[in-house]
Amino acid sequence: MGLATGGYNISLDARDPESNVSFVSHAHSDHTAGLRKGRKVIASSITWKLMSARGKKGTELIRAPEEIELLDAGHILGSKQLLAQSEETGISILYSGDYQMQVSEVAERIEIKEADVLILDSTYPYKDVIFDHRENVIDAIQKYLSYKSEKGIVLFSAYALGKAQELIRIANEVGIVPVVDGRIAEMNEIYVESGIHLEYFSFGSDSEGIDTEIRGNFVGITSSHTGKVEQSISHAYGRRVFTAIATGFAKMSNLGKDVQFPLSDHADLAQAKEYIELCNPKIIYTYGGRENSIAMAENLRDSGYNAHPYFLGGKTNLLDSSLITQRV
Ligand SMILES: [Zn+2]
Repeated sequence: MGLATGGYNISLDARDPESNVSFVSHAHSDHTAGLRKGRKVIASSITWKLMSARGKKGTELIRAPEEIELLDAGHILGSKQLLAQSEETGISILYSGDYQMQVSEVAERIEIKEADVLILDSTYPYKDVIFDHRENVIDAIQKYLSYKSEKGIVLFSAYALGKAQELIRIANEVGIVPVVDGRIAEMNEIYVESGIHLEYFSFGSDSEGIDTEIRGNFVGITSSHTGKVEQSISHAYGRRVFTAIATGFAKMSNLGKDVQFPLSDHADLAQAKEYIELCNPKIIYTYGGRENSIAMAENLRDSGYNAHPYFLGGKTNLLDSSLITQRV
């Protein structure tokens, strides 16, 4: 991929041997493939801290050239979109990374600017996946936590970065201080340093607080999805463990827990259209896995947008104006 600007050839959340700088939109591991030893990286300082805590070493954070602006993406703490402007052609290009239009209490609100070319995340391209209003999902989780934690141990599975912190906040709001595993606690520290207030205990800590907490029923949050934690907790405490999960994929499949909540940090198709209206691009390249990017492009074209799967754009300098005139 050639997003060539400011003397750099920038890869977008991906490994690309032709690039000399990696843009990392956020610290989720499926977006950090561009990191390797000796690599120059463009990312937010929070993404850099989160990645460093997850062991991404040997890379160098550089200041983005002045042709590039990083905009908050609303997905997780520190997540950014990349807006590049070509002085030569006057073309602007916006790469969304993972983003959402809804507002999470533990991430920055999305910031949107207009661009000629939009490279759009395609995680949820489906017409029949419609996310509920966040407040309603949060309300359902809080009611569940309050009710079930009277009856037994509640164990939530969640990504260590982003979703776990939002669940902690959701639990805190109804007076529950959850117990989390070490991977989540490590990410929490960076959230807290960044001014996000979170109250939690860590598994494996021998503090008085956690002993007291664990003597009774408690709410646990684990980054493991194997079910082993559930078994060992049930065995250790001899009590019923209610299992739960919070993810947008709860809208699409049975995830094997007692209950699943569709709490997503991504845009659904309706949010994608809202985003596109505000970006007002001349052309959209849908980005992601092959199937998803094809489905996203088709569904956007059905709504009248000039959208094409990104891989068909291929190894091209997207700031080249001929590309836009060619497609429109
Ligand atoms: Zn992500």
